[in-house]
Amino acid sequence: MTRYKTTALKEPAKDESFVEQEQAVIEGIDVSGQWNRMYEPREITDYDLTHLDKLTGLPGGESMGWCYQCAQCVPACPVDTAGGDYGPRKIYRRLQTGTDIFSHRDLWLCTTCMNCLRVCPKEVDMIQIMPAARAAAVLEGNIPDELQEMFQNVAEYGNPMGQSPRKRPRWAKKAGVPIRVLPKEKEKAPVEVLWFVGDYYAYHDRGVDAANAMARVFNRLGVDFGILGADERTDGDSQRLAGEPGLFEEVAEHNIAQFEKYEFDQIVVSGPHAYNAIKNEYPKMNGGGSFPVEHYTQYLGARLDELKPLLTKPFAKRVTFHDPCYLGRHNGEYDAPRSLLQAVPEIRFTEMFRCKAQGYCCGGGGGGMWLDGYAALHQAERLSENRVKEAVEVGAEVLAVCCPYEVSRFEDAVKSTDNDGKLEVLDIIEILDQCME
Ligand code: SF4
Ligand code: SF4
Repeated sequence: MTRYKTTALKEPAKDESFVEQEQAVIEGIDVSGQWNRMYEPREITDYDLTHLDKLTGLPGGESMGWCYQCAQCVPACPVDTAGGDYGPRKIYRRLQTGTDIFSHRDLWLCTTCMNCLRVCPKEVDMIQIMPAARAAAVLEGNIPDELQEMFQNVAEYGNPMGQSPRKRPRWAKKAGVPIRVLPKEKEKAPVEVLWFVGDYYAYHDRGVDAANAMARVFNRLGVDFGILGADERTDGDSQRLAGEPGLFEEVAEHNIAQFEKYEFDQIVVSGPHAYNAIKNEYPKMNGGGSFPVEHYTQYLGARLDELKPLLTKPFAKRVTFHDPCYLGRHNGEYDAPRSLLQAVPEIRFTEMFRCKAQGYCCGGGGGGMWLDGYAALHQAERLSENRVKEAVEVGAEVLAVCCPYEVSRFEDAVKSTDNDGKLEVLDIIEILDQCME
């Protein structure tokens, strides 16, 4: 065994918190001199793990405990990118050091975009963790005011805007084409497509433009379609993700009961959250609720042969596309929206740097749609602002979207980032409508 000779120390150490033996042999190894500095016993801090245990004990919250701090998720989290000091790794570390997530801002910033789960080797699943933790916080009455108001509106009116259900089909008056409002028909005749319109298409000032465009495109394609009118309720997906599973069940049961009244070939939805809810969540309900459902880009994308001859007017602009998290990452659909845009005459399509599976989040998912003010308090910028800057950076004149939340979100972000006049935000269905005579 190698032996190292050491000489006596020339002067005593100034720091008296450690001692140093001139001669020390440990397990047969001579660690004399500076190799054997013995510091004062380190202070071990016992953190309170009550909140971590509470979270991992919730159904859906278990995987929070699997994090091994590898940091793969750090660059993936859009909230962190927008200056939120966020992501599963940081949340786990805070929980490990005693933070009560149930009364902490961390609980409400996640948009459930799923980008962290895509890269996490331990499958720490924020899509399950966040709704579980939020539901527990909501039960304790711990909830941001904006969300409370939204939940209240859904409970009273069946939509997050707090609008009367009777006003839901009003947009249809301006479409300029006949629309079957199924509950108003005396004869319950079968319909090819039951179109689930959604809240933002039905009520929002800009959303109704897209709803009208959709009605016209269906009409020109010769699709036999009908809507539920005043009998439609919000799809419930955002309420479920924001921590109100009971409210989700209420509206889901209502919508399922309406679907069951009619004979149709399939449901076509305007929004990715409605698609996610009807495709993945309604079938889990007691009593079942499985219906054939497509997002409108999928429905139209499968009919390109009939659609293309109708697209006669050119749209000679540079266009980029924002993948909605709940159509793309959550449900694997990246091609259908692009196939529609590529069918547009004279379009110049360009991808953003973050696209498809690596697409950036608009900030509206998981209840974020109603937490913009809250997010602005805790982040350097809104996610929608970060995204708009990227669209401008790739030279786009038009940011195309296919989620009813996004037109208003991105239009606001265009203004707040001083890009007014540089970037137009359009739903893909509006572009198709503009290209038709
Ligand atoms: S990628 Fe997964 S395991 Fe790694 S730090 Fe993030 S949450 Fe933890
Ligand atoms: S789901 Fe998205 S927003 Fe939430 S922690 Fe993961 S990457 Fe961040």
